[in-house]
Amino acid sequence: MTAVDVERGPHPVIAIDGPAGSGKSTVSRALSERLGVERLDTGAMYRAVAWAALDRGIDPGDSAGVAALARSVAVTVGERVVADGCDITEAIRGPEVSAAVSAVAANPGVRVVLVELQRMWVAARGGGIIEGRDIGSVVFPQADLKIYLTASAAERARRRPEEGADAVARRDRQDSTRSVSPLEVADGARVIDTTERSVEEIVEEVVACL
Ligand code: C5P
Repeated sequence: MTAVDVERGPHPVIAIDGPAGSGKSTVSRALSERLGVERLDTGAMYRAVAWAALDRGIDPGDSAGVAALARSVAVTVGERVVADGCDITEAIRGPEVSAAVSAVAANPGVRVVLVELQRMWVAARGGGIIEGRDIGSVVFPQADLKIYLTASAAERARRRPEEGADAVARRDRQDSTRSVSPLEVADGARVIDTTERSVEEIVEEVVACL
């Protein structure tokens, strides 16, 4: 057995990154069922901090205030998303949170806290499917498999009717151009365009890479 084998957990670490509406949640949910491996939606963690900031009247652009909030708020992300005992599963998908989340996610003090929680989540399970923007590039650069999902701008906007094409484009621009952990194709990532492809087809393509 090699050193790498010894260090490996019982499950693979699969990083799934991509812009809004690229199919990350749908694909990672289906992959999770197919492989029997748990999935973590890291976007929900950033949304939970953005929701908490709005709830408490903290300006999403107040870096010190929002970083302090990220350190103090207790967030759990699973089937339901809970912040300080409050179920915010539906609330974090609303347009106010979508409009504020990119500013919160560009805050290095927030990222330090959430990245640490993401690594602890994977360590506790010995692997997992983790979806986000910087998973293959920053959080798990040694992931067993890195996938970058994409889709045409029109298709991605179609998948986010409640947010609207302009808002989706603005969020992607902010996420791709920020100085800390921007959205990018990680080294070694397999790029999959999900436009006009079925979930089953994509899951098979991903599984074949393992
Ligand atoms: O995945 P979702 O669209 O719910 O993510 C919401 C926002 O959270 C993104 O637009 C991005 O600003 C931020 N995010 C991030 N890094 C991650 C996951 C999400 O910056 N790993």
